[in-house]
Amino acid sequence: MKKVLNGTGTILHTNLGRAPLSSAHISKIMEIASGYSNLEFDLEKGQRGERYSHFEKLLCEITGAEAAMAVNNNAAAVMLILNTMAKNGEAIVSRGELVEVGGKFRIPDVMEQSGAILREVGTTNKTHLSDYENAITENTKVLMKVHTSNYRIVGFTESVSIKELTSLKKQYEIPVIEDLGSGVLINLEKYGLLHEPTVQESIKNGADVVCFSGDKLLGGPQAGIIVGKKKYLEQMKKNQLTRALRIDKFTACALETVLKEYLSEKKAVKNIPVLEMITRPLEKIKQAAKTFSEKLRSEDFPAEISVKKCMSQIGGGSLPMEKIESMAVMIRPFSITTELLAKRLRSLTVPVIGRVTEDQLVLDMRTFDEKDIDCFIEMLKKEQIFRTER
Ligand SMILES: *Cc1c(COP(=O)(O)O)cnc(C)c1O
Repeated sequence: MKKVLNGTGTILHTNLGRAPLSSAHISKIMEIASGYSNLEFDLEKGQRGERYSHFEKLLCEITGAEAAMAVNNNAAAVMLILNTMAKNGEAIVSRGELVEVGGKFRIPDVMEQSGAILREVGTTNKTHLSDYENAITENTKVLMKVHTSNYRIVGFTESVSIKELTSLKKQYEIPVIEDLGSGVLINLEKYGLLHEPTVQESIKNGADVVCFSGDKLLGGPQAGIIVGKKKYLEQMKKNQLTRALRIDKFTACALETVLKEYLSEKKAVKNIPVLEMITRPLEKIKQAAKTFSEKLRSEDFPAEISVKKCMSQIGGGSLPMEKIESMAVMIRPFSITTELLAKRLRSLTVPVIGRVTEDQLVLDMRTFDEKDIDCFIEMLKKEQIFRTER
């Protein structure tokens, strides 16, 4: 594997490893992983402890849930929840929420693997509370809501909220579960983004179990986090699948480290790279683009260097409608094609991934780290990136 520089402007780029962690977070993990740790050791009692204990309290404090745990990724979390709560029974899901996320994770297929029977209700664009209610039988084990992370249905639409779904609990004792996908823990609207449902909202509105990714908008390590009622989480912790899907010490430590930042929203936005990139002021990006372009020009490369407005995106199947204003450094080579330039950038010692538009190479400064500018220019010179021979 190689470090690469991300000039694509896609913050959560699944092919480039999704959420980057900060050096401060990594040093904590290094300290834990390079020696022994109390991963599953209760220091107070001097006996076996639980690997979730390091971040369970934090998650409960942040989200308002009773209990928490984590598995390998969110796909595993969905599988574990359904296998524990709905095996051999029916799980009711709206037809508008039967999502496929990248890497062929499809809700209907995961459900089948988990042993739950999918009972789809409503239509693609409209599902009503009565659709769920009419589908309830003795065999119904859960009502499931899936966040349509990577697509939106617009126009003549209606979907049922968690709050409405949980209102059915007065009459039927059927737990409500939600796959939130991204797992946002702060209100992104405050930072000028579209509303993305938070984990806190879901818990507050009565969801019994909620799951989400660790490395999407949360900005942590790859993990599938599960929060909710203690009664259900306890059953999940005992499920044999949990052992097969369990997280390792790197993940447990990274989750604890990143989640601690959320105790103060200010700190989270500053110290978690994903949130920092999303909320970074345009002025700061403009300044970085200016510095970068001036340094490039001063090298007299056979290329036209300019700075232009562009749009970054969140990626990772999160907030698909969201485009954030950003600034890009554009490189138009004189003597080689833009495609060849892009190819050569990918073969640098530290490969650089950009976008090609209108015959220019675009490096979006929201995801291209300012700290890497000098290293980038050194590589361009040393590896003669603009040479005309092949
Ligand atoms: C991304 C996503 C998943 C899969 O999460 P991973 O952590 O990538 O396994 C599952 N459900 C929804 C709704 C998602 O958005």
